Amino acid sequence: MTETALNSLAQEYVDLTICKTRYDEWDLYWLTEGPFWRRTSMRFSRDYKIFPDYEVGLLKHGRTLQDILEESARLLENLEQYKKTAPEIQMQRVNYLIDHVGHLHTRTRMLLGEHIPFNEMTRQLYCLVAPEYDYKKFDDILEELGQALPGTGTPKEKALAFQEKLMIPRDRLLAVMRQTTQVFHDIAVARMDISHNNMPRVRVRELPDENMAFLSILFGYEYDRIEYERNFNLKYPWTVDRVVECIGHEMEPGHLTYFEMRLKTMIDTCWPEMGVISQYSSSSAFTEGSARRSVYMSFDNSMDKLVDFEREVVFDLAGLDKGLAQLMPLWHRYCDISGYGKLEATRNTWDGKWSKEEAGAFLEKYAFALPGTGVDALEHLAVDDGHFVAHDYARDVLRDYFDSVTTDVDQQWKLYQRLCASHMSMKEIQDKTFRPVAYDFLP
Ligand SMILES: [Zn+2]
Repeated sequence: MTETALNSLAQEYVDLTICKTRYDEWDLYWLTEGPFWRRTSMRFSRDYKIFPDYEVGLLKHGRTLQDILEESARLLENLEQYKKTAPEIQMQRVNYLIDHVGHLHTRTRMLLGEHIPFNEMTRQLYCLVAPEYDYKKFDDILEELGQALPGTGTPKEKALAFQEKLMIPRDRLLAVMRQTTQVFHDIAVARMDISHNNMPRVRVRELPDENMAFLSILFGYEYDRIEYERNFNLKYPWTVDRVVECIGHEMEPGHLTYFEMRLKTMIDTCWPEMGVISQYSSSSAFTEGSARRSVYMSFDNSMDKLVDFEREVVFDLAGLDKGLAQLMPLWHRYCDISGYGKLEATRNTWDGKWSKEEAGAFLEKYAFALPGTGVDALEHLAVDDGHFVAHDYARDVLRDYFDSVTTDVDQQWKLYQRLCASHMSMKEIQDKTFRPVAYDFLP
């Protein structure tokens, strides 16, 4: 079988994915439609998001969910058939397509109303199952915060008060966001062989929805140039940790670098599947996990260097008390554990073990939600139930994977860049066996 045959199977995957966005509007967060794209009209709003970052109109139409279900099942059979005689060099690509058409099929079943157990849901959507967390860690970290944080009151009250002290004043937000974006951009360009053209235009504005951290407007792309405007929400509670996490993760060296690598690979190969990134897929778990990990890699995986940056750039520009920076290593640990707390809250409610009220009380108990907002927070999390598996757990899977391949940070950057352009397998990243094939026709 020729590559042309495989390309047409891959194109079916892309068409079905785009059609599904009619029923699943947040699914597609990157789309390369052709070799380049330009926004040619100013008729858009800076008040709400559309996904992907521009309207794909007619591409969404023509199939019901039932059609998508049946066609994806047939496509899966065709890929399995193709695999029987596929040459070794195509094997990662065929397996990637099989994984992704499987994710699409499961997500379609869910949209049609099927409820599957949480771990099975994340296995079928992301090729990841998070082991049950050690709940003692929630109590331990709270106690540790109670002892280390300044002020009076219960450990929970101290945690909430500390979070308040990390809040960036509104009038300093633009300066903080711009400079943090610049620092991460410079690190990404210095550590990888990527374009220097992708520094986004950073803006701050009040967005109507206070839960929306930012809003992006894509103005165009071509090969290694992505023109983005990022509007950060002045109503969002930006703390030091959220700024650092959001900038490194959402832009460079995180998602924006991933988009660049996929765009270039799509143009260099004409592989249709490189043109889409679906939220409910193992590619998404890869980019979420690696984007979060890349924040640490940016500081040589050293907490001390990360905290130096936070103190000298973020605390400084925000006018915050720099003396508090010494507590950031503990705070980062708490934030990591809080992600696992949210994972357990969503898993237990999804599986019917906890009521919404119980999950809400759990979130409030550890200050993972503000007092009185636990149920609301839980409902907000339930918009994307697998989020904490595809983000927080995936970050730790990627950390263990990188460290198992090499502890040399320069080599980890090279590996990260190659993974972004590869047909990665989250399952093989989790069991640490994945090595991207080197295609000799790619740079
Ligand atoms: Zn993300």
